[in-house]
Amino acid sequence: MNSSPFILLVTDLLGRASARRDETIVGPIEIVMDLDRVDASNPVTVQVRLEALADQILARGDIAYSAQVHCNRCLTEWTESGDTAFTQLYSREPNEDTQPITRDGHIDLEPAIHDEVSLALPLVPLCKADCLGLCPTCGTDLNTDSCSGHADESNSPFSALRQLLEP
Ligand SMILES: [Zn+2]
Ligand SMILES: [Zn+2]
Repeated sequence: MNSSPFILLVTDLLGRASARRDETIVGPIEIVMDLDRVDASNPVTVQVRLEALADQILARGDIAYSAQVHCNRCLTEWTESGDTAFTQLYSREPNEDTQPITRDGHIDLEPAIHDEVSLALPLVPLCKADCLGLCPTCGTDLNTDSCSGHADESNSPFSALRQLLEP
């Protein structure tokens, strides 16, 4: 076992129907996604209740998260934060709905927390719905400055076409 704060020993609960334990855990969750949409995830705070159900463990709780994200159009950065709930069942014989309880009685909350935080974060972060983004030629932030066009436009295929069309 590594030293992840999200790996918990549950031998005190196993086989003791209706036994329960509450935990508060603070730890890092690394979110790496396509498009580098999250640059860094700050530590999450997880409040979880562990309950023994026959030979299974039910983990239910809340995750307070925050992560640095940047606007998909203008690259402005901000901290996206919020709360999300999670529920995960752990079993000695895991299937697609349950996570494993190891031989020595540990469960790992990290996969469930990782999934919920990933889902809670915006798929395509935008600083505002109508963000105008950056001028692809000069990089001007079109939300704050208007770009008046570029002198070398006469070389573009579009302006050559426009000359042909002009009377
Ligand atoms: Zn933006
Ligand atoms: Zn420009």
